[in-house]
Amino acid sequence: MKLSGKKGRVQCISEEILEKLSLTTRNKFLYYNLMSFLETKHLQFLKQAQNFFENFEENKNITHNEDFYEWIPELGRNGYLSRLHKFEEVDLNYEPYGMTAEFMRILAMDFFDPQLTMSTGATAICVNPILLHNEDVSIRLRAVKELITGEKIGAIVITEPERGSDAVRMQSTCEEQEDGSFLLNGEKIYQTNGSKAGWAVVYAVSEKNNGNTMAQFLVDTSLDGWTAERINIPWAPRMHIAKEYFTNLKIPPECVLGKPGEGRAHLFEGLNLERLTIVCLNVAEAWNAITHAVIYANMRKQFDKEILKYQGVGFPLSDLWAQTTSLTLATLNVCKIIDDKMEQLGTLPKDFNLALGTTASQLKFLSAKLSERVVYECANLMGGAGVCDNTLMHDLLGISRLQEIGGGTRQVQSHIMSSALRQLFKLL
Ligand SMILES: Cc1cc2nc3c(=O)[nH]c(=O)nc-3n(C[C@H](O)[C@H](O)[C@H](O)COP(=O)(O)OP(=O)(O)OC[C@H]3O[C@@H](n4cnc5c(N)ncnc54)[C@H](O)[C@@H]3O)c2cc1C
Repeated sequence: MKLSGKKGRVQCISEEILEKLSLTTRNKFLYYNLMSFLETKHLQFLKQAQNFFENFEENKNITHNEDFYEWIPELGRNGYLSRLHKFEEVDLNYEPYGMTAEFMRILAMDFFDPQLTMSTGATAICVNPILLHNEDVSIRLRAVKELITGEKIGAIVITEPERGSDAVRMQSTCEEQEDGSFLLNGEKIYQTNGSKAGWAVVYAVSEKNNGNTMAQFLVDTSLDGWTAERINIPWAPRMHIAKEYFTNLKIPPECVLGKPGEGRAHLFEGLNLERLTIVCLNVAEAWNAITHAVIYANMRKQFDKEILKYQGVGFPLSDLWAQTTSLTLATLNVCKIIDDKMEQLGTLPKDFNLALGTTASQLKFLSAKLSERVVYECANLMGGAGVCDNTLMHDLLGISRLQEIGGGTRQVQSHIMSSALRQLFKLL
């Protein structure tokens, strides 16, 4: 009997149920749930991505205890590291592409491996500003291509030891030199992929604590002056999250994506899409947990009946399913609006982007909370099987607890939303 996917040290779940929890069966459950709502091209892409990961897992006999960074080149060669753009600039021409396609990529990859998916999200976010500000500069285009094809890993470097939520008032400095290069000095912390990254997008200020002097740089991490130490985040043990030190790190002029004064706007212009990709990740984690719990509760018997038939299990599971479906439909709607606007206008209009800021915060706030609750409750409904190491539930439990912190904390999202309520009131 073939047991694809996660294998624990001691088998706690019956052979029959473990087989049904395989990636192939879980993928079918997701597909049936989404098939009525997706356009054909997105449904086909979801299926294509699901098939890819099923074959990838089976051919490599993957147990999800491996170093997933070793898989990145193969995933990149097959076009599964980002679908946000077509990437014509680097001769890739992905189809389909855009926000909805990225959502599909994230769903399919998350069912395969949630920690890998969170890590590829950081690479995808790192690519956005380089692509947007490539200005046909060859080193920038090379960085985009290497990141998208998986030759190198990416990190986005904002947070500092003393500046977390208060990200704009940075302490890391950049000092312009006569030849147009910059010297970077300072420390950063909690960067996803930081200790694995080949390319990084780094923010620093020319005057400490003054966000208006912020600049944005593309950094080749093999340069002298860049050091990264891996931090131990026990809830995501396979991910590399790091603390970085810059010591007279010299950035050549062609890698200055935004000069002092431009960095702050560059940081905020990408934030909406970044938050929305985190929303997709959160929704994917919730679906993955629900899928495990639905399959398990339909097969596990206690007191001679499948546990789904007890109201104590079936009703709360239905409730989690309803909430996750609703959030998925809301996310799909926002993705479609963005894709339509991009198709019609080639860019997002300023007013729309402003409104999207609040929407992205609302969805990030709700989806992070939902993901954490759904994963925990699904694990709980599965009893011991939900918390042992035989399935991806344990990976999901850890990672869904991080989502309210990364990408702007829950409290910061609340702050953004309540400020928007004040602005709206002033319009009345
Ligand atoms: C897994 C993970 C991955 C990450 N990946 C990246 C990455 O790739 N790149 C990157 O640059 N950063 C990354 N981060 C950093 C992340 O963005 C920060 O941790 C986050 O912004 C919070 O900063 P902090 O940890 O310093 O907490 P603090 O800002 O010190 O916050 C501590 C507490 O105070 C609350 N708080 C702070 N200010 C306010 C306020 N005004 N009102 C109400 N409450 C407030 C916060 O909500 C939080 O509960 C990551 C973090 C994690 C955990």
